[in-house]
Amino acid sequence: ALADEAGGVAFARAEAHAHALREMQMASALRHALERQELRLVYQPQVSLSSGAIVGLEALARWHSPQWGEVPPTEFIGVAERSGLIGALGQWVLDTACRQWVTWRAAGLQAPRVAVNVSPHQLRRGDLALAVQRVLLDTGMDPRGLGIELTESAVMDDPARAGQALSELRALGVEVALDDFGTGYSSLACLRSLPIDVVKLDRSFVSDLDSAPESMALTRAILTMAHGLGMQVLAEGVENEEQLNLLRSKGCDLIQGYWFSPPVAAEALAERLATGWRL
Ligand code: C2E
Ligand code: CA
Ligand code: CA
Ligand code: CA
Repeated sequence: ALADEAGGVAFARAEAHAHALREMQMASALRHALERQELRLVYQPQVSLSSGAIVGLEALARWHSPQWGEVPPTEFIGVAERSGLIGALGQWVLDTACRQWVTWRAAGLQAPRVAVNVSPHQLRRGDLALAVQRVLLDTGMDPRGLGIELTESAVMDDPARAGQALSELRALGVEVALDDFGTGYSSLACLRSLPIDVVKLDRSFVSDLDSAPESMALTRAILTMAHGLGMQVLAEGVENEEQLNLLRSKGCDLIQGYWFSPPVAAEALAERLATGWRL
Protein backbone atom coordinates (compact mmCIF):
# COMPACT_ATOMS: atom_id res chain seq x y z
CA ALA A 1 0.00 0.00 0.00
CA LEU A 2 2.86 2.29 0.87
CA ALA A 3 4.59 1.63 -2.42
CA ASP A 4 1.29 2.28 -4.22
CA GLU A 5 0.89 5.58 -2.50
CA ALA A 6 4.40 6.65 -3.39
CA GLY A 7 3.69 5.66 -6.97
CA GLY A 8 0.51 7.75 -6.89
CA VAL A 9 2.37 10.76 -5.57
CA ALA A 10 5.08 10.43 -8.20
CA PHE A 11 2.41 10.13 -10.87
CA ALA A 12 0.58 13.21 -9.61
CA ARG A 13 3.87 15.09 -9.59
CA ALA A 14 4.67 14.07 -13.14
CA GLU A 15 1.22 15.14 -14.20
CA ALA A 16 1.50 18.53 -12.51
CA HIS A 17 4.88 18.96 -14.18
CA ALA A 18 3.51 18.11 -17.63
CA HIS A 19 0.67 20.54 -17.04
CA ALA A 20 3.01 23.36 -16.03
CA LEU A 21 5.20 22.66 -19.05
CA ARG A 22 2.25 22.76 -21.43
CA GLU A 23 1.10 26.03 -19.88
CA MET A 24 4.56 27.60 -20.34
CA GLN A 25 4.90 26.39 -23.91
CA MET A 26 1.46 27.57 -24.80
CA ALA A 27 2.08 31.01 -23.28
CA SER A 28 5.22 31.33 -25.36
CA ALA A 29 3.38 30.19 -28.51
CA LEU A 30 0.61 32.68 -27.79
CA ARG A 31 3.11 35.49 -27.43
CA HIS A 32 4.44 34.67 -30.89
CA ALA A 33 0.93 34.28 -32.25
CA LEU A 34 0.16 37.87 -31.22
CA GLU A 35 3.25 39.07 -33.06
CA ARG A 36 2.70 36.90 -36.12
CA GLN A 37 -0.99 37.60 -36.55
CA GLU A 38 -2.10 34.00 -36.02
CA LEU A 39 -5.17 35.22 -34.20
CA ARG A 40 -8.36 36.31 -35.85
CA LEU A 41 -11.84 37.41 -34.92
CA VAL A 42 -15.13 35.85 -35.95
CA TYR A 43 -18.45 37.57 -35.47
CA GLN A 44 -21.79 36.24 -34.23
CA PRO A 45 -25.01 38.18 -34.95
CA GLN A 46 -27.29 39.41 -32.16
CA VAL A 47 -30.84 39.78 -33.39
CA SER A 48 -33.78 41.88 -32.22
CA LEU A 49 -36.93 39.79 -31.71
CA SER A 50 -39.19 42.81 -32.25
CA SER A 51 -37.67 44.12 -35.49
CA GLY A 52 -35.85 41.05 -36.80
CA ALA A 53 -32.79 43.21 -37.49
CA ILE A 54 -29.23 42.28 -36.64
CA VAL A 55 -28.39 44.89 -34.02
CA GLY A 56 -25.05 43.57 -32.85
CA LEU A 57 -22.08 41.37 -33.76
CA GLU A 58 -20.13 39.73 -30.96
CA ALA A 59 -16.42 39.54 -31.77
CA LEU A 60 -14.96 36.19 -30.68
CA ALA A 61 -11.24 35.40 -30.78
CA ARG A 62 -9.85 32.37 -32.65
CA TRP A 63 -6.35 30.98 -32.58
CA HIS A 64 -5.04 28.47 -35.05
CA SER A 65 -1.60 27.51 -33.85
CA PRO A 66 0.77 25.65 -36.20
CA GLN A 67 1.92 23.69 -33.15
CA TRP A 68 -1.29 23.15 -31.15
CA GLY A 69 -3.93 23.32 -33.82
CA GLU A 70 -7.20 25.16 -33.16
CA VAL A 71 -7.03 26.20 -29.49
CA PRO A 72 -10.41 27.02 -27.89
CA PRO A 73 -10.70 30.61 -26.61
CA THR A 74 -11.62 29.46 -23.11
CA GLU A 75 -8.19 27.81 -23.02
CA PHE A 76 -6.00 30.52 -24.56
CA ILE A 77 -7.77 33.38 -22.79
CA GLY A 78 -6.99 31.54 -19.54
CA VAL A 79 -3.36 31.11 -20.56
CA ALA A 80 -3.20 34.81 -21.45
CA GLU A 81 -4.73 35.79 -18.10
CA ARG A 82 -2.19 33.74 -16.13
CA SER A 83 0.87 34.68 -18.18
CA GLY A 84 0.35 38.44 -18.32
CA LEU A 85 -0.46 38.43 -22.04
CA ILE A 86 -4.10 39.37 -21.57
CA GLY A 87 -3.39 43.10 -21.74
CA ALA A 88 -1.83 42.80 -25.21
CA LEU A 89 -4.43 40.28 -26.35
CA GLY A 90 -7.33 42.42 -25.14
CA GLN A 91 -5.85 45.45 -26.86
CA TRP A 92 -5.47 43.48 -30.10
CA VAL A 93 -9.10 42.33 -29.97
CA LEU A 94 -10.43 45.82 -29.32
CA ASP A 95 -8.28 47.35 -32.03
CA THR A 96 -9.07 44.67 -34.61
CA ALA A 97 -12.83 44.78 -34.00
CA CYS A 98 -12.93 48.59 -34.28
CA ARG A 99 -10.82 48.60 -37.46
CA GLN A 100 -13.10 45.97 -38.95
CA TRP A 101 -16.20 48.04 -38.20
CA VAL A 102 -14.61 51.16 -39.73
CA THR A 103 -13.62 49.15 -42.82
CA TRP A 104 -17.18 47.83 -43.23
CA ARG A 105 -18.67 51.31 -42.89
CA ALA A 106 -16.13 52.80 -45.30
CA ALA A 107 -17.22 50.13 -47.80
CA GLY A 108 -20.80 51.39 -47.46
CA LEU A 109 -22.03 48.48 -45.40
CA GLN A 110 -24.58 49.16 -42.65
CA ALA A 111 -22.54 47.22 -40.12
CA PRO A 112 -24.29 46.89 -36.74
CA ARG A 113 -22.52 47.50 -33.46
CA VAL A 114 -19.59 45.20 -32.66
CA ALA A 115 -19.50 43.81 -29.13
CA VAL A 116 -16.08 43.10 -27.64
CA ASN A 117 -15.42 40.82 -24.65
CA VAL A 118 -13.30 42.36 -21.94
CA SER A 119 -11.49 40.19 -19.39
CA PRO A 120 -11.59 40.73 -15.62
CA HIS A 121 -7.94 41.76 -15.79
CA GLN A 122 -8.68 44.62 -18.19
CA LEU A 123 -11.36 45.80 -15.78
CA ARG A 124 -9.08 45.56 -12.74
CA ARG A 125 -6.39 47.69 -14.37
CA GLY A 126 -8.63 50.70 -13.98
CA ASP A 127 -7.90 52.27 -17.36
CA LEU A 128 -10.43 50.40 -19.51
CA ALA A 129 -12.40 53.48 -20.58
CA LEU A 130 -9.19 55.30 -21.40
CA ALA A 131 -7.97 52.40 -23.55
CA VAL A 132 -11.33 52.30 -25.33
CA GLN A 133 -11.27 56.05 -25.90
CA ARG A 134 -7.80 55.78 -27.44
CA VAL A 135 -8.90 53.04 -29.82
CA LEU A 136 -11.96 55.06 -30.83
CA LEU A 137 -9.73 58.04 -31.61
CA ASP A 138 -7.07 55.95 -33.39
CA THR A 139 -9.55 54.17 -35.61
CA GLY A 140 -12.01 57.04 -36.07
CA MET A 141 -14.82 54.79 -34.96
CA ASP A 142 -18.25 56.10 -33.98
CA PRO A 143 -18.61 55.15 -30.26
CA ARG A 144 -22.18 54.04 -30.95
CA GLY A 145 -20.70 51.30 -33.14
CA LEU A 146 -19.03 49.68 -30.14
CA GLY A 147 -20.30 47.53 -27.30
CA ILE A 148 -18.37 46.10 -24.37
CA GLU A 149 -19.25 42.78 -22.72
CA LEU A 150 -18.16 42.21 -19.15
CA THR A 151 -19.05 39.08 -17.23
CA GLU A 152 -21.28 39.32 -14.20
CA SER A 153 -18.60 37.67 -12.05
CA ALA A 154 -15.91 40.17 -13.16
CA VAL A 155 -18.22 43.05 -12.32
CA MET A 156 -19.30 41.62 -8.95
CA ASP A 157 -15.67 41.06 -8.00
CA ASP A 158 -15.41 44.79 -7.35
CA PRO A 159 -18.75 46.47 -8.08
CA ALA A 160 -17.55 49.95 -7.11
CA ARG A 161 -14.66 49.91 -9.55
CA ALA A 162 -16.73 48.24 -12.24
CA GLY A 163 -19.47 50.83 -11.81
CA GLN A 164 -16.92 53.58 -12.36
CA ALA A 165 -15.56 51.93 -15.53
CA LEU A 166 -19.05 51.26 -16.87
CA SER A 167 -20.11 54.88 -16.29
CA GLU A 168 -17.04 56.10 -18.13
CA LEU A 169 -17.69 53.75 -21.05
CA ARG A 170 -21.28 54.87 -21.26
CA ALA A 171 -20.25 58.51 -21.15
CA LEU A 172 -18.17 57.78 -24.26
CA GLY A 173 -21.32 56.53 -25.96
CA VAL A 174 -20.36 52.86 -25.84
CA GLU A 175 -23.01 50.22 -25.04
CA VAL A 176 -22.42 48.07 -21.98
CA ALA A 177 -23.58 44.46 -21.59
CA LEU A 178 -23.41 42.17 -18.56
CA ASP A 179 -22.28 38.76 -19.86
CA ASP A 180 -23.11 35.26 -18.52
CA PHE A 181 -25.83 36.70 -16.33
CA GLY A 182 -27.34 34.35 -13.77
CA THR A 183 -24.13 32.41 -13.15
CA GLY A 184 -22.62 34.94 -10.72
CA TYR A 185 -24.14 36.13 -7.51
CA SER A 186 -25.36 39.66 -8.13
CA SER A 187 -27.54 41.22 -5.56
CA LEU A 188 -30.46 43.11 -7.02
CA ALA A 189 -29.39 46.22 -5.13
CA CYS A 190 -26.02 46.02 -6.83
CA LEU A 191 -27.47 45.59 -10.28
CA ARG A 192 -29.74 48.56 -9.75
CA SER A 193 -26.82 50.89 -9.19
CA LEU A 194 -24.85 49.71 -12.25
CA PRO A 195 -25.11 51.53 -15.57
CA ILE A 196 -25.91 48.59 -17.83
CA ASP A 197 -27.74 48.57 -21.17
CA VAL A 198 -28.07 44.85 -21.81
CA VAL A 199 -28.19 41.79 -19.60
CA LYS A 200 -27.01 38.63 -21.39
CA LEU A 201 -28.92 35.66 -20.01
CA ASP A 202 -26.43 32.79 -19.72
CA ARG A 203 -26.69 29.88 -22.15
CA SER A 204 -27.24 27.40 -19.30
CA PHE A 205 -30.71 28.89 -18.68
CA VAL A 206 -31.63 28.85 -22.33
CA SER A 207 -30.51 25.25 -22.87
CA ASP A 208 -32.98 23.81 -20.36
CA LEU A 209 -35.81 26.29 -20.73
CA ASP A 210 -38.16 23.63 -22.08
CA SER A 211 -37.22 20.91 -19.56
CA ALA A 212 -36.50 22.64 -16.23
CA PRO A 213 -39.29 24.72 -14.70
CA GLU A 214 -36.73 26.48 -12.46
CA SER A 215 -34.92 27.81 -15.52
CA MET A 216 -38.17 29.19 -16.88
CA ALA A 217 -39.00 30.79 -13.53
CA LEU A 218 -35.55 32.37 -13.30
CA THR A 219 -35.71 33.59 -16.88
CA ARG A 220 -39.06 35.23 -16.16
CA ALA A 221 -37.70 36.85 -13.02
CA ILE A 222 -34.61 38.15 -14.82
CA LEU A 223 -36.74 39.58 -17.63
CA THR A 224 -39.05 41.35 -15.18
CA MET A 225 -36.17 42.70 -13.14
CA ALA A 226 -34.08 43.88 -16.11
CA HIS A 227 -37.04 45.53 -17.80
CA GLY A 228 -37.97 47.20 -14.52
CA LEU A 229 -34.48 48.68 -14.43
CA GLY A 230 -34.69 49.84 -18.03
CA MET A 231 -32.30 47.20 -19.35
CA GLN A 232 -32.71 44.94 -22.36
CA VAL A 233 -32.29 41.17 -22.15
CA LEU A 234 -30.32 39.13 -24.69
CA ALA A 235 -30.60 35.33 -24.51
CA GLU A 236 -27.38 33.52 -25.47
CA GLY A 237 -27.02 30.07 -26.96
CA VAL A 238 -30.42 29.89 -28.67
CA GLU A 239 -30.18 26.67 -30.67
CA ASN A 240 -33.73 25.86 -31.76
CA GLU A 241 -37.09 27.30 -32.62
CA GLU A 242 -38.79 26.12 -29.40
CA GLN A 243 -36.32 28.13 -27.34
CA LEU A 244 -36.83 31.12 -29.62
CA ASN A 245 -40.62 30.97 -29.30
CA LEU A 246 -40.52 30.54 -25.52
CA LEU A 247 -38.21 33.51 -25.17
CA ARG A 248 -40.27 35.61 -27.52
CA SER A 249 -43.48 34.84 -25.62
CA LYS A 250 -41.83 35.91 -22.36
CA GLY A 251 -40.79 39.27 -23.79
CA CYS A 252 -37.08 38.67 -24.35
CA ASP A 253 -35.58 41.50 -26.46
CA LEU A 254 -32.63 39.94 -28.29
CA ILE A 255 -31.23 36.53 -29.14
CA GLN A 256 -27.88 35.10 -30.18
CA GLY A 257 -27.03 31.51 -30.98
CA TYR A 258 -26.49 28.75 -33.53
CA TRP A 259 -30.16 28.78 -34.51
CA PHE A 260 -29.77 32.15 -36.23
CA SER A 261 -26.06 31.86 -36.99
CA PRO A 262 -22.78 30.54 -35.58
CA PRO A 263 -19.89 33.02 -35.41
CA VAL A 264 -18.67 33.77 -38.97
CA ALA A 265 -15.50 35.19 -40.53
CA ALA A 266 -15.49 38.89 -41.41
CA GLU A 267 -15.55 38.41 -45.20
CA ALA A 268 -18.45 35.96 -45.20
CA LEU A 269 -20.32 38.17 -42.78
CA ALA A 270 -19.96 41.25 -44.99
CA GLU A 271 -21.39 39.31 -47.94
CA ARG A 272 -24.39 38.19 -45.94
CA LEU A 273 -25.02 41.63 -44.43
CA ALA A 274 -25.02 43.13 -47.92
CA THR A 275 -27.95 40.87 -48.86
CA GLY A 276 -30.12 42.36 -46.09
CA TRP A 277 -29.75 39.38 -43.76
CA ARG A 278 -32.36 39.35 -40.93
CA LEU A 279 -34.56 37.14 -38.76
P1 C2E B 1 -18.97 34.12 -24.26
O1 C2E B 1 -18.54 35.55 -24.21
O2 C2E B 1 -20.08 33.69 -23.39
O3 C2E B 1 -19.25 33.82 -25.79
C1 C2E B 1 -20.29 32.99 -26.26
C2 C2E B 1 -19.78 31.61 -26.59
O4 C2E B 1 -20.89 30.76 -26.91
C3 C2E B 1 -18.88 31.57 -27.81
O5 C2E B 1 -17.93 30.54 -27.60
C4 C2E B 1 -19.85 31.18 -28.92
O6 C2E B 1 -19.23 30.60 -30.05
C5 C2E B 1 -20.70 30.19 -28.19
N1 C2E B 1 -22.04 30.03 -28.77
C6 C2E B 1 -22.74 30.91 -29.51
N2 C2E B 1 -23.95 30.43 -29.83
C7 C2E B 1 -24.04 29.20 -29.29
C8 C2E B 1 -25.07 28.18 -29.28
O7 C2E B 1 -26.15 28.34 -29.83
N3 C2E B 1 -24.79 27.04 -28.61
C9 C2E B 1 -23.61 26.84 -27.97
N4 C2E B 1 -23.43 25.68 -27.35
N5 C2E B 1 -22.62 27.77 -27.96
C10 C2E B 1 -22.84 28.93 -28.61
P2 C2E B 1 -16.40 30.74 -27.92
O8 C2E B 1 -16.22 31.57 -29.15
O9 C2E B 1 -15.77 29.39 -27.87
O10 C2E B 1 -15.90 31.61 -26.70
C11 C2E B 1 -15.93 31.09 -25.40
C12 C2E B 1 -15.60 32.15 -24.38
O11 C2E B 1 -14.25 32.61 -24.55
C13 C2E B 1 -16.47 33.39 -24.52
O12 C2E B 1 -17.70 33.16 -23.89
C14 C2E B 1 -15.61 34.40 -23.80
O13 C2E B 1 -15.75 34.29 -22.40
C15 C2E B 1 -14.21 33.95 -24.18
N6 C2E B 1 -13.72 34.78 -25.30
C16 C2E B 1 -13.84 34.58 -26.63
N7 C2E B 1 -13.25 35.59 -27.33
C17 C2E B 1 -12.78 36.46 -26.39
C18 C2E B 1 -12.06 37.71 -26.46
O14 C2E B 1 -11.78 38.26 -27.53
N8 C2E B 1 -11.72 38.31 -25.27
C19 C2E B 1 -12.05 37.74 -24.06
N9 C2E B 1 -11.68 38.40 -22.92
N10 C2E B 1 -12.71 36.58 -23.97
C20 C2E B 1 -13.09 35.95 -25.11
CA1 CA C 1 -19.55 37.49 -24.47
CA1 CA D 1 -21.78 34.85 -22.51
CA1 CA E 1 -20.05 31.93 -21.43
